[in-house]
Amino acid sequence: MGHFRVDLRDIKFVMFEQCRLQDLLGRGPFAAYDRDTMSMMIDEAERFAREVLAPLNEASDRVGATFSDGKVTMPEGFKEAFRSYGEAGWISLAGDPEYGGMGAPVMLEAATGELFEVGCLSFNLTRLLSSGAANLIRSFGTDEQKQTYMGRMYSGQWTGTMCLTEAGAGTDVGASRATATPEGDHYLIEGEKVFITSGEHDLAENIIHAVLARIPGSPEGTRGLSLFIVPKFRCDSAGTLGEANNVHALRIEEKMGIHGSPTCVMGYGQDGPCHGYLLGEQGGGMKQMFQMMNEARLMVGMEGAAIGNAAYLQAKAYSAERIQGRDATRRKEGRVAIIEHPDVRRMLLWQKSHAEGIRALGYYTALLVDRAHVLEAEGDAEGAAAAHSIVGVLTPIIKAYGSDIGFLVADSALQCHGGYGYTSEYPAEQFVRDVRISRIYEGANGIQALDLVGRKLGLNGGADARLCLEALGAMAAEARDAGLGEIADAVAAALASVARVATGFGAAEDRLQPLLGAYGFLELMGQAAVGALLAQQAVLATKALLEISESRGIEAADEAALRKLAQDDDETAFYWGKVMNARFFSAHVLSLCPARAEQLLSTDRSVMDVVF
Ligand SMILES: Cc1cc2nc3c(=O)[nH]c(=O)nc-3n(C[C@H](O)[C@H](O)[C@H](O)COP(=O)(O)OP(=O)(O)OC[C@H]3O[C@@H](n4cnc5c(N)ncnc54)[C@H](O)[C@@H]3O)c2cc1C
Repeated sequence: MGHFRVDLRDIKFVMFEQCRLQDLLGRGPFAAYDRDTMSMMIDEAERFAREVLAPLNEASDRVGATFSDGKVTMPEGFKEAFRSYGEAGWISLAGDPEYGGMGAPVMLEAATGELFEVGCLSFNLTRLLSSGAANLIRSFGTDEQKQTYMGRMYSGQWTGTMCLTEAGAGTDVGASRATATPEGDHYLIEGEKVFITSGEHDLAENIIHAVLARIPGSPEGTRGLSLFIVPKFRCDSAGTLGEANNVHALRIEEKMGIHGSPTCVMGYGQDGPCHGYLLGEQGGGMKQMFQMMNEARLMVGMEGAAIGNAAYLQAKAYSAERIQGRDATRRKEGRVAIIEHPDVRRMLLWQKSHAEGIRALGYYTALLVDRAHVLEAEGDAEGAAAAHSIVGVLTPIIKAYGSDIGFLVADSALQCHGGYGYTSEYPAEQFVRDVRISRIYEGANGIQALDLVGRKLGLNGGADARLCLEALGAMAAEARDAGLGEIADAVAAALASVARVATGFGAAEDRLQPLLGAYGFLELMGQAAVGALLAQQAVLATKALLEISESRGIEAADEAALRKLAQDDDETAFYWGKVMNARFFSAHVLSLCPARAEQLLSTDRSVMDVVF
């Protein structure tokens, strides 16, 4: 069945049973949407991902995008698929309806994005950048810029990029050297950017680059950077294409994974004048670019969820088929499938609980973005601000913890395949290679941790972080009320560990302490957040299992009977799995959080004392 495995049941469970997206539908910006429409769109995205994208995935990995004479040729089938992708409206799903977008909730974009990423991760990146760049123009562009670019980018007729990185300016974006010199109604852009995703390709007739560059005389650092629209072909306001704009791909990178995504070194103005048009405020480039980066950070975290979940499902299927060894419990005769072995089961439940947990974290973050939009439209500025605050805190966590876990799940899934996992006969190794990038781009994960500890924890005097912990704490309380005391205790202890470390960092005399502990703190908070969301799922599952028990005449407390039923009944198995996720995560992950807090507050300075 190839690599395409998705669990639509879980996707819809998180959207509608856990996050209750339907409570926001029919309101404000989502007036045109209801639960049935959302559900049908998920089904349609799954069909598109399975029928159109999944068949491209393996070949795109083997052949990849190729470069010759300044031109990039995308893998076979990408062009046709991209056309139908744009026509179906998938690029502009959450885009502004005034410019041809579909105005759907961000949660739907996250969920459909997950399906497309499983279909073919490298194909999906052009969409991500196009909608992100179009949204930048929506927020900061003039009316003419919006009219010229947005609709064409939403439809896929043109695509977009984000151009920050230079050879000497990666994390340190402020060191960028690209320049923008005023000339009449435009600027002349000169310089080189590296690692530009979809910087050049043959999918669309024009490419609209969002480029950070410095106007001569601007201050050093990020404060001196402005943002420019730099089209591959110049165009008039009616969108009629004119001359080439001297934007060229100089080469593409040979990479570990996502071979179908061209990662380009781009030259601007090297063979003639390259026109750029100021987008937004002079000197406000970096601040504006953060809008696109924050949107992308959620989606990159979701790449971890997408590939992690697909890799887990693949490992589960393989483990049920592969026969090796005998049953350690002696309940089964003869040689058994490896899924019977405790150590393989440990790997699979580790994968399942983590992969489903980061999916929930991503959707929950998206829900808060959508809630903020609805509340803003309804005039509830305070409610909207609260939702925004929690999103701000969760964004570095979903980006970094989501992508770290996505990779680790894919790695563990490969391990379940033994030696076959290391070969190209199974998709396990491609999952590992493809998802590895998510930990690096959109701000390497170490930088996300510094953002969380150095900026987000202190926002509004710590009130944003407190709001986030309160929201997660309410989930622990729900679990307690539902009789899931052990799980509730574990979540509460994990959240208390987070609060303890945050307070400790705030009071630290040694200013290096928060820097040394930032990564561990982000992991700790990721674990606490996922633990809370898994507890919330367990509450819903417990209620559902109670109803199932009643309808089948099973004693509510008879877990053995429920487990037996779960072997033959998919619904029971689904909810039983949710309870097992929360139990496992509490016992094996959350139980270690208090000790982790202790370690993060320790005075060990070997990291700084070591001589490398
Ligand atoms: C496949 C791919 C696609 C990409 N797509 C795009 C794109 O479309 N547009 C774009 O602009 N860029 C893109 N990038 C670039 C990507 O965002 C950068 O690679 C990333 O931001 C890191 O920059 P760098 O590679 O220069 O690493 P460096 O900045 O050299 O960092 C190396 C390591 O040092 C750490 N580090 C650096 N500075 C600090 C610090 N101050 N404190 C603590 N740790 C630090 C980092 O966390 C990292 O682990 C892409 C990269 C790849 C590989």
